[in-house]
Amino acid sequence: MYDLSSSVTNLPGIGDSVSAKLAKLQINSIFDLLYHIPFRYEDRSLISSPHQIQIGETVTTIGKIDSIKNEVTKSGRLFQRAKISNEYGGIDAIWFHQPFLTKTLKPGLSVAMYGKADFFGNKKALISPEYEIIQDNSDLANLTHMGRIVPIYPETSGLTSKWFRNTLKKLLPNLANNFPNLVPHVIDWKQALQAIHFPHSFTDIPSAKNRLAADEILLLHLAGMSRKSAWDTKKTAPKFKHTDLINKFIQTLPFSLTNSQSNAINEIMADLSQDTPMNRLLEGDVGSGKTIVAAVSAFISHLNNFQTLILAPTQILANQHFQTLEKLFAPLEISVGLITANHKIKNPEKISILIGTHALLSDKLSLKNVGLVIIDEQHRFGVAQRSLATIKGESPHVLTMTATPIPRTLALTIHGDLDVSYLDKPPSGRLPIKTWVVPESKRDASYQWIDSQIKTHSSQVFVVCPFIEPSESKDTVKSATDEYSKLKSIYPQYQIELLHGKLKSSEKDKIMANFKSGKTQILVATPIVEVGIDIPNASIIVIETADRFGLAQLHQLRGRVGRGTLQSYCLLFSSSENINRLKALETNSDGRSLAEIDFQLRGPGHLYGTAQHGSVQFKIATYDNLELISEVKQIATNIFPNLKSYPLLLKLVENDKISLIQPN
Ligand code: ADP
Ligand code: MG
Repeated sequence: MYDLSSSVTNLPGIGDSVSAKLAKLQINSIFDLLYHIPFRYEDRSLISSPHQIQIGETVTTIGKIDSIKNEVTKSGRLFQRAKISNEYGGIDAIWFHQPFLTKTLKPGLSVAMYGKADFFGNKKALISPEYEIIQDNSDLANLTHMGRIVPIYPETSGLTSKWFRNTLKKLLPNLANNFPNLVPHVIDWKQALQAIHFPHSFTDIPSAKNRLAADEILLLHLAGMSRKSAWDTKKTAPKFKHTDLINKFIQTLPFSLTNSQSNAINEIMADLSQDTPMNRLLEGDVGSGKTIVAAVSAFISHLNNFQTLILAPTQILANQHFQTLEKLFAPLEISVGLITANHKIKNPEKISILIGTHALLSDKLSLKNVGLVIIDEQHRFGVAQRSLATIKGESPHVLTMTATPIPRTLALTIHGDLDVSYLDKPPSGRLPIKTWVVPESKRDASYQWIDSQIKTHSSQVFVVCPFIEPSESKDTVKSATDEYSKLKSIYPQYQIELLHGKLKSSEKDKIMANFKSGKTQILVATPIVEVGIDIPNASIIVIETADRFGLAQLHQLRGRVGRGTLQSYCLLFSSSENINRLKALETNSDGRSLAEIDFQLRGPGHLYGTAQHGSVQFKIATYDNLELISEVKQIATNIFPNLKSYPLLLKLVENDKISLIQPN
């Protein structure tokens, strides 16, 4: 009997080279192998006698090999012909360029073949069939690769579905039935494994999948809880003191905080006063004002003589945060520094608040006394970088921030090990952004309208060209460049600039500065502007080929305007027929409910944030099974305190490498 949590190398026939291949499919333990489930099935259950096979049919047939030979076609092509038959008749099987087959398929052997019948020359034959040798008659009823519903697995080079079938078929009978059945209405574990890998009928599959999905979700919840409890036992962080200066600082801000900003700050303050490091996620829709919450937190850290690191995913955003915080803190003589790949500073250990890209995490950077790490646009960072952030310094407090609007149940699953604060309302006084889906036929009229807006209101305009690939690519840059040239000829009277990720950072900074100061009227950009950019004077955003984006992502982009008190507009250009989905943006300004709509319409694969960046990926469960996710969460909560009485679960949880923020 195998320990499911142990390495696949404990199985016969799996050595280092196979296990390295398996690792490419994220299969490390025997458990992982069992939960590597087929992505589809082929119905190969129809068995025909060789003489009954019709041209065009794809069938399984069984017979004895009468002969097998290498032959050559008239045009000189090498092929193999086997004749197989039973007592009623026979058929040829033809393969090309597989001379070794004559060594495996010897005359006299019983075989099953699966393939499509066609004419070869003018004779009926199975063309390039798969085969399975039948050792004795008891195999007949229990073929592995044909004569049944056959699983097709995600493969990797050198590990075919055939390999998975053979391996799992040997493994399944040797399993102890020791995986606990904790979810009441699901089927027994061994029954589920049998049915998912070797189903007798297609109707067996959904309940098997549901059972295994429940297990996967259970382990995910338990892993989150276990990381949280490990984190909570740490007593390594500095306890920050509350002082009156904090409120005084808040009173000097140019605006008063919203209620949810104040609540978030209180929750953060409470965390910071503990020696258990804070591990809190600040979630707030775009424009809800997360930066100021970060700034107040950094101020608290400064008052307690600790350094704060603020990480941003792009140089543009890092630079923007630097300018915002510099302006805020310079009058208080608090030092603020910027560190990116192209911007180094001397003696970073002497700076109170350091803002930067991942360059901040470089080992070479000398830091002193890091008490707080803030990660902005957390969903943009890979897992590795996020866990690095906790290693830097001793074991500082960590605040992550995101605008990724996802359904709440999901948020709690993905962020099971985090405490969450929400900014649910935007600062008051903001006008809703007027949003229109614009058909091609109205393009020229829109350009005139934009012109009049710039003339009469000195409006500033973002023009965003679409992602063609998940990250910025040559094609994306080209489409932005083309758009830029086109707009320059339409609006010769205006200053227009082009921003994309391939520019030098000094150029990017200059372009952003020109836009911020109002020198530039129109900024053409790739979706690089999507994250975080804050230009309160920009009041129009044009999004090209909007149908390529998810609603939640469009909402993020739209959030680049409407950040000040000006009436702002969002024009969604789409040449696609299917604009109904986009219409949701005309009437809906809530990121979370747009995410729900995306979720319903396009499925979880398109859920903004989860698809692109390191969030939890289920192998079996899907995000649309929110009910099962919450039900299992309850079960996980109940058993977690007694996890020791479930030794297998305990080991699997300890194995679990899925981690958003790993405690040191
Ligand atoms: P996000 O949550 O998207 O990061 P920001 O922190 O960039 O949002 O804030 C968006 C804009 O709102 C900024 O220009 C900021 O100065 C402003 N802002 C933040 N909080 C308030 C508030 N309480 N009242 C008015 N404006 C605010
Ligand atoms: Mg932001």
